Amino acid sequence: MRRTLYLKFILAYILFGIFGFIVVATFVSNMYLDRCESTKADTLYKEATAIANSYGQDLYNSETSIDSVYRQLAALSSYNGAQIWILNPSGRVVVKSSEEIDTGSEVVVQGFNPMEMAGKLYTVGTFYGSFDEDVLTVLAPIASSYRTSGYVVMHLPMSVIQDEANQLLNIAYIELAIILLLSLIILIFFTEIVYIPLRKITQATEQYAAGNMRYPLSVESEDEMGYLAASLNYMASEIANQEDDQKKFIANVSHDFRSPLTSIRGFLEAMLDGTIPPKMHEKYLQVVLNETERLTKLTNGLLTLNSLGTKGILLNRTDFDINELIRGVAATFEQTCRKRQITIELVLTGSQLYVNADADRIQQVLYNLVDNAVKFSKDGSSVRIETTERGSKIYVSVKDSGIGIPKKDQKQIFERFYKTDLSRGKDKKGTGLGLSIVKEILKAHDENINVVSTEGVGSEFIFTLKRSALNDEIED
Ligand code: ADP
Repeated sequence: MRRTLYLKFILAYILFGIFGFIVVATFVSNMYLDRCESTKADTLYKEATAIANSYGQDLYNSETSIDSVYRQLAALSSYNGAQIWILNPSGRVVVKSSEEIDTGSEVVVQGFNPMEMAGKLYTVGTFYGSFDEDVLTVLAPIASSYRTSGYVVMHLPMSVIQDEANQLLNIAYIELAIILLLSLIILIFFTEIVYIPLRKITQATEQYAAGNMRYPLSVESEDEMGYLAASLNYMASEIANQEDDQKKFIANVSHDFRSPLTSIRGFLEAMLDGTIPPKMHEKYLQVVLNETERLTKLTNGLLTLNSLGTKGILLNRTDFDINELIRGVAATFEQTCRKRQITIELVLTGSQLYVNADADRIQQVLYNLVDNAVKFSKDGSSVRIETTERGSKIYVSVKDSGIGIPKKDQKQIFERFYKTDLSRGKDKKGTGLGLSIVKEILKAHDENINVVSTEGVGSEFIFTLKRSALNDEIED
């Protein structure tokens, strides 16, 4: 396809040239010939009339001799290239500019009929067989004593007119050649502006189709071609990034599944072959149970992410009391908190604070955030959950005084499987999926989440929710 587009353009160019020459060689050539013929005939007719009114009348009024008229006409003829004859109405040649008439012999144009020329400026032919080649003939009557006593007839060979037309035609050919050469500029422009970028684009698409999504496509122009290339480039890099993400995702999933499986297998084998004595079995079975718990958590997390990842997830939006939801989530952590002497402090705005969101999903968001806050808190510290009302938004904050998150990790913690080095020792069961689930749920709600954290001091996660109109009714 690439090559034929260029060929088609060249073919169109050649056809344009050929048609140009055909048109010049036929229509233009005929136009020039007609034009030369009529202008020549016009000039000759004016000359013939002048001759008829001067030498012709003088001759018939016997004011001059045939010989003197012959010489005058011969001089005129050599000047304009036409033969000038003076004929009697019967067709007898009186004077011929080309030769001296022998007064003894009578030369007659057989069949001469001036009436045939009536209404015509000129004729083309052999003039009653007087010439071997075609000549253009004009006829002017010589009037003396109120009657036509003779005719001045002028003949110009058609070959002379044809030569003149050919000279004009040569100019037309040169003009056409110049136009063709100049139109080569269009071909150069086409090559530069359309063909070369298009070839680069098709080459790139071939590479993309072959799976080489990192193939660089550089079309710098700022026109539609440049735009098309930039769009393709963007599309390819997005696909490449997706592929990378997918590879990373699969590598992470495999890794996170493999490590608990390896340890489960290791412990079970050790128990079976007696490396771990039966009295220690309970302890290690507990480890195995923890590992299976981690696998379940991982699988559930992946399933949740998968359901959130599909475009346009359906949210079951209702107006519910976020304060009540927070109290409920805090209660589920009571047991864990008591063991570690962690207190959960609730700083809630109003007794009821309604938001419009998917309650189950927001419960999961809160659960994940509080779970992290408790997990990474120091024993004996407190976790504060706060709600604030600001305009059409409700802000929910979960703050802890735990290990904190290093600055460099703060952007990445919302990515799947991301765990900070700091947290690895503290939380062996973590999947690194909790915050990405939080992020996806809030994204589906068109809401935001931010983190403010200082390493060693603590972290605060703040997210927004849509305030419900129910709050106004309660106030009223
Ligand atoms: P996980 O299930 O491992 O907790 P998350 O996606 O919830 O995964 O969190 C990702 C990582 O972000 C955690 O492993 C931890 O390193 C860091 N992180 C999240 N919340 C906190 C917090 N409150 N304090 C300190 N680090 C945190």
